[in-house]
Amino acid sequence: MELSSDLLSPRRPTRQIHVGDVAIGGGAPVSVQSMTTTKTADVEGTLAQIYALAAAGADIVRCTCNEEAAAEGLARIVPRSPVPIVADIHFHHEMALAALEAGVDGLRLNPGNLRKESEIKLVASEAKDRGVPIRIGVNAGSLHPDLYKKYGGATPEALVESAKMELAYFDEVGFSDVKISVKASSVALMIGAYRLASESFDYPLHLGVTEAGPPPAGLVKGTAGIGTLLAEGIGDTIRYSLTADPVEEARAGRQLLESLGLRERKGLDLIACPSCGRAQVDVIAVAKEAQEALENLNLPIQVAVMGCVVNGPGEARSADLGIAAGKQKGHLFIQGKIVRVVPEAEMVTALVAEAERLVAEGIEARLAAADASAEAEAEADRRALLDEKGADPNASEQRVDRIRRRVSGTEGNGAGGPTHKE
Ligand code: SF4
Repeated sequence: MELSSDLLSPRRPTRQIHVGDVAIGGGAPVSVQSMTTTKTADVEGTLAQIYALAAAGADIVRCTCNEEAAAEGLARIVPRSPVPIVADIHFHHEMALAALEAGVDGLRLNPGNLRKESEIKLVASEAKDRGVPIRIGVNAGSLHPDLYKKYGGATPEALVESAKMELAYFDEVGFSDVKISVKASSVALMIGAYRLASESFDYPLHLGVTEAGPPPAGLVKGTAGIGTLLAEGIGDTIRYSLTADPVEEARAGRQLLESLGLRERKGLDLIACPSCGRAQVDVIAVAKEAQEALENLNLPIQVAVMGCVVNGPGEARSADLGIAAGKQKGHLFIQGKIVRVVPEAEMVTALVAEAERLVAEGIEARLAAADASAEAEAEADRRALLDEKGADPNASEQRVDRIRRRVSGTEGNGAGGPTHKE
């Protein structure tokens, strides 16, 4: 059964802002962000990456605006981008003004390195006039030195105070079109900081574990931090920061939200059994082949690859579609019901074809179109496999027997170790 977001803590209420046409906070769906790694001045290269990020699930993309050529690039990129563009600003307030001139949908300011009150107010005033929101992007690694000193390091309190200081400047010019992030590379620090931010502000929160590193460790850190907070109802928009192709960031963000039931499934969810003594195929190889064949089709379904027809269709009955191996055949099933049996060599091809038909025609229609003889053929294969391998191919029951005999003292100490019975 798919996890429902109703089982998580209720989302914390926040104000709503809009980055382009994407609503953030105020009950809007949690959005996915990523950041380009190209030079922003390279318009075609950056746009190609933005399109790839959008296809992988990014709702908003951030581009660095670190020099005039980058701002000029943004002026050419923004009108052609499929998703809203946020300009990432560090150190130079003129770059924020140039990005606004370029027509960006949002700014990210780092209060740790853009510190002059007059400059911050100037940017906020112009953003206000143009109706462009700003993310106050606090980062533990570039915390304002005064705060670092005051708190003896980057603590949740220091990170939240940095955001408060920036908000106070914004307040003086009547600007409140704001979202906030308090990122850290330490998962524990980031969780603590966002919990405190959530108690302190009603502005939408942008979640992230910064500098998480390359996958898989980077993915684990990002998921630990972002997932924990989302499960607590904290967070309105997210970004994985991976040392990898940013497409992986967008994909991971989307998958995390889908797995928590916070966004509707947009793409494929491929599940596969871990394989065991019953497996009739190399499950890893078949799952990989199926993943490669299906992932670019962007079909919003869950597909299962199962090692045997004895248990596979039942174990994966919650999947929309699946394939289970056995007797050199592939047994295609829809929600656990066998609909077709094909030669093993054709099982991935048949799975892909059925996936496309299932999405086009719907589950009921495809169940109605099932081969009449498929269920009986699968049952015969199941029985044949049971006869061949017996009911306990993993030898689990033998182990259970041995455990029981050892614990009850009816088996000697032949293995060398003492029993628990004295
Ligand atoms: Fe896979 Fe079959 Fe083993 Fe289940 S019983 S893990 S489906 S091979």
